[in-house]
Amino acid sequence: MSLHSVRPKILGFISEDASAGLVALLVMLCGCVLTGLLAWSTFNLYQQQLRQRFQLLASERYSRIEERFEDQEQRLDGLKRFFINSGSVSRQDFDGYTQPLLHRTQAYAWAPRVSGTERGLFERRVREQGVSHFSISDLDADGKLQRAPERAEYVPVLYSQTQSALGSPLGFDLLGQPLRRDTLERARSRGGAAVSQPVRLVGVEPSYARGIVLATPVSVRATMPVLSSEPYGYVIAVISMRQLVVDGLPEQNHDNLFVQIIDLSTDEASGQLYESSNGPGASSLSMTRVLSLADHDYQVNIRPSALFLQANHSSASSQVVLGGLLSLLLSALLYVLVSQRQRALRLVEQRTEELRVREQELRGTHGKLRSVLNAATQVAIIATDLRGVISTFNAGAEHMLGYKSAEVVGHMTLESLHLPEELNARAQALGQRYGRQIPISQAMLGDGSEASGDATREWTLVRHDGSHLAVNMLATPVLDDHGLWVGHLAICIDITERKRVHEALAARDRLLKKLSAHVPGGIYQFQIDAEGHPSFPYVSDGIRDIYEIEPQQLQLDAEPVFTRIHPDDVARVRSSIRTSAKQLSLWREEYRVQLPQRGLRWVRGEATPERLAAGGVLWHGNLSDISDLKRVEEELRALSVTDSLTGIHNRRYFQERLQTEMARVERGVGDLAVIMLDIDHFKRINDQYGHAVGDRVLRAVCERISHRLRRTDVFCRLGGEEFMVLCPDTDGQQASVLADELWRGLRGSPIEGVGVVTASFGIASWRQHEGADGLLLRADSGVYAAKQAGRDRVQAEMA
Ligand code: GH3
Ligand code: MG
Ligand code: MG
Repeated sequence: MSLHSVRPKILGFISEDASAGLVALLVMLCGCVLTGLLAWSTFNLYQQQLRQRFQLLASERYSRIEERFEDQEQRLDGLKRFFINSGSVSRQDFDGYTQPLLHRTQAYAWAPRVSGTERGLFERRVREQGVSHFSISDLDADGKLQRAPERAEYVPVLYSQTQSALGSPLGFDLLGQPLRRDTLERARSRGGAAVSQPVRLVGVEPSYARGIVLATPVSVRATMPVLSSEPYGYVIAVISMRQLVVDGLPEQNHDNLFVQIIDLSTDEASGQLYESSNGPGASSLSMTRVLSLADHDYQVNIRPSALFLQANHSSASSQVVLGGLLSLLLSALLYVLVSQRQRALRLVEQRTEELRVREQELRGTHGKLRSVLNAATQVAIIATDLRGVISTFNAGAEHMLGYKSAEVVGHMTLESLHLPEELNARAQALGQRYGRQIPISQAMLGDGSEASGDATREWTLVRHDGSHLAVNMLATPVLDDHGLWVGHLAICIDITERKRVHEALAARDRLLKKLSAHVPGGIYQFQIDAEGHPSFPYVSDGIRDIYEIEPQQLQLDAEPVFTRIHPDDVARVRSSIRTSAKQLSLWREEYRVQLPQRGLRWVRGEATPERLAAGGVLWHGNLSDISDLKRVEEELRALSVTDSLTGIHNRRYFQERLQTEMARVERGVGDLAVIMLDIDHFKRINDQYGHAVGDRVLRAVCERISHRLRRTDVFCRLGGEEFMVLCPDTDGQQASVLADELWRGLRGSPIEGVGVVTASFGIASWRQHEGADGLLLRADSGVYAAKQAGRDRVQAEMA
C-alpha cells in the first residue's frame, strides 16, 4: 500500500500539509470568537442579574420609605387622637406621649389656634405655667425669634418635643411663615394631615435641615357639645427627610443605592426634598415610583450607587482576558504540536525513503555478491557455521572439487574436504608449538592462537573423485553485527598450476646457476635506477673471482666494485657506462682492477642496456678476466714495433712515435729534434766479411748508439743500415751536441773483427708549420750532405 494513499490529519480534520502557523491562527480566531460569545452571554447574564438585584434592592427601599411615610402619618394621627380624646393635655402629658415617638421624627409639636385678642391672655397663662419669657414670635432674617406683630390669628408652638440639642422654638408662630401657614391652611381645609413644601428646618443640624412639616388639625373633641368644623389647634411633626430615609440604613458611602425624592406638588426648583450624598453610579438602571404622604405626592428615584456597581462588577472583561490568554496558549500549543508532528512525519518519511534506498542497495549488493560468488569460478568460496558445517559452496568450489552445492551444504564439513594426514600433522605441529592440544578444526582455520585466523596456508583438498587438489586457503572468522563469531569463511585458490610454474622456475634457476658457474668470469644484471643509484640485481658466483667481493654484497649497492677498479681506469669506466645509458648502446670496456689477493688484473666487460619502465637503465652482461690475453697482446705489440735483428724499435714504431710527438709540439708543448745516421760503406762490410758479420756489425752499432742515448730518446732502425734517433724536448743545438757525441762514440769504439765502423749523421729540429715529412727530408738531406762531404761526420742542420 502506498504511503500516500491516506493523508494523515491532525485532530481528524486538519490536513497535515496545512502550515502550523495557519492552524494556530485558525485556533486563535476560533478561541477569540468563542471568548467573545462567552463574554457576551456572561455580560448579558450579568446585566440581567444586576437589574434583578437592583430591582430587589430598590423595591425593598421603596417599601421601606413608603412604610416610614405611613408610619409618620399614623403616629401624627395617634397624637391627634390623643389630643381629641384627652380633653385637656398638659405639657407633661404631651411630653409623655411624644417622647417615645421621637424616632425618625425631628420633633413633635402642639400649636393651638390663638386669636389676636386672646394673645395677651394666652401668653400670660403660658408664662404662668412655667414657660418664662414666652411670647408669640416670628423668625427674623437672621433666624432668631422675635415677637410677632399683631395678627388676627396665631398658631404658636406651645408644646414641643424635639431631638434637637438647640431646644424647642416655643412661641414660634406657624402662621407667621408662609410655607407653614399654607400647610396649616391645607390641613384645615382637608380636615386631615397636610405636608408642607420642603422647608429648611429650624433648630436642626444643617445636614438634616432639609425636611417637611407634617400638620394635622385637631378638631373639637367629639364629646364637646358644640361641634365646630374649625380645629382648635394643630399637632405637627417635623420630619428631617434625611433622617427619615437613611435611619437604620448603612452609611451613605456604603449604600448600594442612590435615592432622590422630589416633591411633585411643588415646582421643580424647590421640589427636591432629598438626594443621597453618595451620588449615582454610571449605569442606565433606575427606578421611579410615586409615594404619597398626606396630601403630597413624592417621586422617589432610585439608581444604583457606584458602590453597588463596584460590588457587582462584570466578570466579562476578565473572561475576555482569560479566554484570550487561553486561546493564545492553545494556539501556541497547537502550533508546537502541529509543527513538531509535521517535522516528525517528515523525518519518518525521509527515514522510510532512506530505508527503502538502503534495502534496494542491500538487495543489489546481495545479488551482486551472489553473482560474484558464482562468477568466481577460479576461486572456491566456502562458508561454514560454528560447527564447521558448510553453508555456502560457490560455483568455483563446485568446479574445483567436483561436488554439487546441494550435496555439500548442510551435509558436509570443511574438515571432511581436507586430507586427514595433513590436518593431523598440522594439529600436532601446532600442539608442540603451543604446548597444548589443538583441535583439528582450529588447526585447519588458524595457527592455534586466538587472535589470528586469517592467514593463508597451503592445503591439500580431496576432490569428489578422490584426487588431490593443492590450494591456498585463506580462512577468516565471520562475525555478526555484535562482533560475535558465527562461522568461518574459507577462500581457496587452486595452486596446482602455480606450483608447477614455481617448480619450473626453480629448475631454471638451478640451470642458470649451473651455467653461470661454468661460464668463465661472471654474468650479471647491473642497474642504475631513476635516482642514479647503481646496483647488481643479479650476479653469478663468478663475480667473486673478478672483483674479490661477495655477490650478495653487490645486490643493493654496486659502489664496492668501483673501489676495486684501478684509479687510472675508473673515470673511463664510469664515463662509458654513462654513455651507454644515454645512447642505450652496447657497453664494452677493458680495465684494470686492483685486487687484495691477486693484485692487478685486467677485466673485460660487455653488457646490453635496456631502459626500465620506472626510469633508470638495466644492463645484462658478462665480465671476464683477460689478464693473460692482455699479456700476450702486449707481447705481440712489443714484437710488432721491435726490429728483430737489433732489438731496437722498428720503422713502424718510429712512425707512430713521430706522429705522437709531432702532435705534441704542434700543440705548442716542448721541442722536437731527429738525428738520422747511415753506416758508411756497409756494403763493403757485407762483401768483405759476409752477411752474418754484417748483421753482427749492425747489432754492435745499435748497442754503441743506445748506450749513449738518454732515456727519453727513441732509437729506431728505419731499414738496412739506416737509423733514426727521435729526441723529444730537444732543440737543434742540443741535437747537434748529441749527434756529435754519438758520432764520436761510434768511431771511438771499433767492432771486434771488423774495426772502426763510422756513420754519417743528419740533424733536423722541429720548425713551426713544418710537417713530419719536411722534418724527415731535412734530416735525410743532412745525411746525404754528410755522405757527399766525405762521410764519417755530423752534418750541421740544414736551413
Ligand atoms: P754508403 O757509404 O754510400 O752508404 O755506401 P754503402 O755501401 O753503405 O751503401 P749502400 O746503400 O749501397 O749499401 C747498403 C748495403 O747494405 C746493401 C746491402 O747488401 C746491405 N744490407 C742491407 N741490409 C742488410 C742486412 O740486414 N744485413 C747485411 N749483412 N747487409 C745488409
Ligand atoms: Mg744506406
Ligand atoms: Mg751506407
